Amino acid sequence: MPNREDLQKRLTPEQLHVTQDKGTERPFTGKYVNYKTKGVYACICCGTELFTSDTKYDSGSGWPSFWLPLAGDRVHTHRDTSLGMIRVEVTCARCNAHLGHVFEDGPQPTGLRYCINSASLDFHPSADGAAGEAS
Ligand SMILES: [Zn+2]
Repeated sequence: MPNREDLQKRLTPEQLHVTQDKGTERPFTGKYVNYKTKGVYACICCGTELFTSDTKYDSGSGWPSFWLPLAGDRVHTHRDTSLGMIRVEVTCARCNAHLGHVFEDGPQPTGLRYCINSASLDFHPSADGAAGEAS
C-alpha cells in the first residue's frame, strides 16, 4: 500500500491533493475528460484497475464519467455530507485513494454516473489501442 511520502515523490501536487485530501480538479481540465482511446483506467496511487473505456461516456460534466466500475469490488462508496450536500464518495477499494463521486443520473443499464477525477487515474491502453497509437 503506497504511503503519502512515496506518493509525494511520484505524483503531481494536484494528483496528491485529489487522491489524499479528497480534492476535485477543475472541470474540463483533466487529461481524460474527452479521452476515447480503448483501455483501462487504473488507480494513480496503487495501480488497481478501476474502470474501462467500454463504460466511459460523455456526460458533459467536465470530468471523466463511467456508468460502471470494472468490477464492483474495485471501488468503495461512502456517504459524504461535506459542502452541505449529500453525495456518495467513490474511493479505491485497495488504497482508499479518493476518486470522485457517484450520482444517480447516469445512462442505462445502471443509471449511475461515476464522476471521477482524471488526477486519480492512470490510463493503460489496450493492445488494440497501443497498436493504433504506435508508428
Ligand atoms: Zn488505489
